[in-house]
Amino acid sequence: MSEYKGLIGLQTTGQSPINLDDRLVRKRKFPPLVMNGHWLNDGVAHLVNTGGTATIFLSGDRIPSTVCGGPLANDIYEFASAHFHWGEDNCKGAEHTINNTWYSMEGHVVHWNKKYLTMEECFKHKDGFCVLAYLFLVQPGCCNCINPQLERITERLKDIVDTNMETTIPANCLSWMRWATYCNRYYTYAGSYNTNNFSECAIWIVFPVVIPIRPSELNEFRKLRDRDGKCIKSNCREIQALNCRQIFLAVPN
Ligand SMILES: [Zn+2]
Repeated sequence: MSEYKGLIGLQTTGQSPINLDDRLVRKRKFPPLVMNGHWLNDGVAHLVNTGGTATIFLSGDRIPSTVCGGPLANDIYEFASAHFHWGEDNCKGAEHTINNTWYSMEGHVVHWNKKYLTMEECFKHKDGFCVLAYLFLVQPGCCNCINPQLERITERLKDIVDTNMETTIPANCLSWMRWATYCNRYYTYAGSYNTNNFSECAIWIVFPVVIPIRPSELNEFRKLRDRDGKCIKSNCREIQALNCRQIFLAVPN
């Protein structure tokens, strides 16, 4: 695919996403992962059709949302944006797999390492970004879905059907992250930024907690249109080789 031309000349041995294979995972105790500010109802949230996905930006009068601790050494990472990956059907759409199991959708919450001062600089460093990854699974026949917080996003997707359209949504639109984030086990590995370019500059944290989503909600994502006016039926990247990397499973102290 043309978007992968950017890989030529770049290091390509540490790409994302990967299959998280429990046979290859090493358990490790990390300090607690500390999240701050993501689900406050302050300021403004913007939902944007970027032509490839639906992306959320936060602005206005709110404290920066940060993540630190866990595998992130002594660095503080600040929220940049969040976006989603999905597929043509409900069986495959998430990017990461766990023991070769596919999920329906994946949310990426991207943070940049403040010690590098600018986001551009972060692309040059292995620890430039921290991406929190959340797995969604369609629950067939789920009438009273147990994750109504996702509606703050999915109900407004109809307002951003065409590329570059933008709308405001509730500032606490990331509240769906909360439940999965409190899981005290997660996978972490060194990988790549996998939207605009494929620089190997990200520490990935993948929460193995399945977040339910209604089939109708996922269909709203598929109605978004790219720059050519075609529906974005699928925007998930294929699984990449692990090569020499180690996957860690963070376990409680
Ligand atoms: Zn992504």
